[in-house]
Amino acid sequence: MEGRVGVTGARRLLGRLRDVMAGTGTAQERLDNIVQLIAADMEAEVCSAYIMRAGDILELCATEGLFPESVHRTRLRVGEGLVGVIAATARPLALSDAQAHPAFAYRPETGEEVYHSLMGVPILRSGRVSGVLVVQNRSQRHYTDEEIEALQTVAMVLAELVAAGALVDVEEQHATDGIATLPHRLDGVRLNPGLAIGTAVLHQPAIVIRQLVAEDPEAESLRLDHAIGEMQRSIDRMLSSSELAHGGEHRDILETYRMFAEDRGWLGRIREAVQSGLTAEAAVQKVRDDTRARMKQISDPYIRERLTDLEDLANRLQHHLSGGATTAAVETEAEDVVLVARSMGPAELMDYDRKRLRALVLEEGSPTAHVAVVARALDIPVVGRVKGAIGQIDAGDQVVVDGDNAQVLVRPSEDVQAAVENRLAERRSRKAAYQALRELPAVTLDGVAIGLFMNAGLLIDLPELEATRADGIGLYRTELPFMTRQDFPNVADQTELYVRVLDQAQDRPVVFRTLDIGGDKVLPYLPETVEENPAMGWRAIRISLDHPGMLRQQLRALLLAANGRPLSIMFPMVAEVAEFVAARRILDMEVQRVGERGLPLPSSLKVGAMLEVPALIWQLDALCREVDFISVGSNDLMQFLFAKDRGNARLAERYDVLAPAALTCLGEIVRVADGCGVSLSLCGEMAGSPLEAMALIGLGFRNLSMSPSAIGPVKAMIRTLDVGPLRRYLADATRHTNHSLREKLREFARDHGVSI
Ligand code: PEP
Ligand code: MG
Repeated sequence: MEGRVGVTGARRLLGRLRDVMAGTGTAQERLDNIVQLIAADMEAEVCSAYIMRAGDILELCATEGLFPESVHRTRLRVGEGLVGVIAATARPLALSDAQAHPAFAYRPETGEEVYHSLMGVPILRSGRVSGVLVVQNRSQRHYTDEEIEALQTVAMVLAELVAAGALVDVEEQHATDGIATLPHRLDGVRLNPGLAIGTAVLHQPAIVIRQLVAEDPEAESLRLDHAIGEMQRSIDRMLSSSELAHGGEHRDILETYRMFAEDRGWLGRIREAVQSGLTAEAAVQKVRDDTRARMKQISDPYIRERLTDLEDLANRLQHHLSGGATTAAVETEAEDVVLVARSMGPAELMDYDRKRLRALVLEEGSPTAHVAVVARALDIPVVGRVKGAIGQIDAGDQVVVDGDNAQVLVRPSEDVQAAVENRLAERRSRKAAYQALRELPAVTLDGVAIGLFMNAGLLIDLPELEATRADGIGLYRTELPFMTRQDFPNVADQTELYVRVLDQAQDRPVVFRTLDIGGDKVLPYLPETVEENPAMGWRAIRISLDHPGMLRQQLRALLLAANGRPLSIMFPMVAEVAEFVAARRILDMEVQRVGERGLPLPSSLKVGAMLEVPALIWQLDALCREVDFISVGSNDLMQFLFAKDRGNARLAERYDVLAPAALTCLGEIVRVADGCGVSLSLCGEMAGSPLEAMALIGLGFRNLSMSPSAIGPVKAMIRTLDVGPLRRYLADATRHTNHSLREKLREFARDHGVSI
């Protein structure tokens, strides 16, 4: 019995289905015809179509073989019974003895007890399960892979019928919550800060595939090959565009993307689907639906990103097939574009006119998603993981994207729009004012000089050094390039990267932080560890000391890159002095190795620790004897001090970095470091906010490292500040037991004319 439906079988069946689809009759009649056709063609005694209704209920809508009275009566929840399992997993199931399966749910009204084998596939459209298509046989039949493939192909045709809404109301298929036109707010996660307002453009509104079944599969194959060639050439053109001409991680990402466009496995599956009788567009859609379904099963963020790249390519290929002129990027006329997408590959973003692109909203996405890295290079705010964005934002809606607060305001009221426009205008004029401060020193009114450094992590950040006139890079996060690669970069690759950083920084100092991976920063090529508290888990220096080989390679690359120039290195997440000493010893070994090979050593080598774990505060004297400098990582320090997960939105407002306890703790660090004469800085987020920076200076911090955009506002604050009165004020205020001193410090700034 096996193998009765191969490529030619699927082609024949599709041909018949085309006639049914094009024919007259109600949707129910057509569906009845379809299940009959499938049953006959696949030599199955039963063929049934279950369609998804609101509330995740699968309803039997048509059957050949089961009792007719069960139609529209038999209902299963997603996850219930074998049909429910197929819907829940979005994967096919083929069982020769279905009743032996633990999920089998017997429904007496169907009369299915006499059928032993079952094969079912999800009906997928745009990656969503909209139903399940099942065949059953009395015998214990072994369904072949070709038969599963054929049923999947048929299910795809059926998906179009379901989507048309004739069987189950479209409204009911995608339950809405009655907020179709009212203003409302959607929350997500911050992938890139900034504020923007514009008109929503839905990225690649679903392409309407007018013809699913090919008239002439051979001609269709040629058409597909032609479109693939065109797509590959257009990617080459994009890569040579002037905006991307200079190197950087975003370019590496796009180069990898080009490799995907030549991926034999992916192209092979599309070609096979055309061979089985689908049109080229439908074949791309089918492979893409399979990919999306797979994506739902995968939690590994790295693999998910790879699949997103494939989704991006599928879009691209479909547009080439449809003549290439119908992308949302080309069609939109809006002056200020807010792009809304489920997910997006890096190259797709580049299709949009850079000058009109204001912001990006994604239903998926993570801070390391390639599209986020590219968006950062383009300097647009991005909010990711916005649940239901596509369903709740219509093309043409006004949308405010607040990347700083990870919010999206849909159809904001006129008042809100006006307020946002004002904030944007203020930002523009403040930016111009900060520009004017660029050449002026960061010195307080009473003559205290403050070192203003910037945080960086990508090569594309480096031009900001010149733009902001920062004193140097106070924190270079080295992990990002490691996260976007498929394997661990070797010493030569790392050296090349660090050389570029040092070259661009010229004579300004750069503090390289060794790998701070682990926690949520996953390296795809390291074994996955599942931890209950990843932030407090195996990360940063803990991994480095357990895998000294990795640390040695990075340190070697840094020493070689310095090539006789000054070098500063710091270790993250040090919890006790012994850890620092162990890491320092590894560095000394590498220094010796470089020396023994007659290679130039750095003209000066400064080695420091990040102070992020509270325990270290009680070893600070001892630490000061070992280090050249200390940098306070207030993001982590505060999370551990208050036992407050820094990524938990519910706790975001709960404890304040300006709480008396936090400030007392920071003041104590200054006291000990100053007493030991050790250089101290702070490089967490709080350094970049003028009010917090004011408090830090009042506590005695003299070096701050922050994101480049914060340097202007913080410098403006410094140049209007008298440190003397603030120091006295803080000495008294930190004795209070208030929740936070934020309001009091604001008052202080107002009363003393400090620009915050
Ligand atoms: C910090 O913890 O404050 C810090 C600067 O490190 P990261 O934000 O990279 O953890
Ligand atoms: Mg940290």
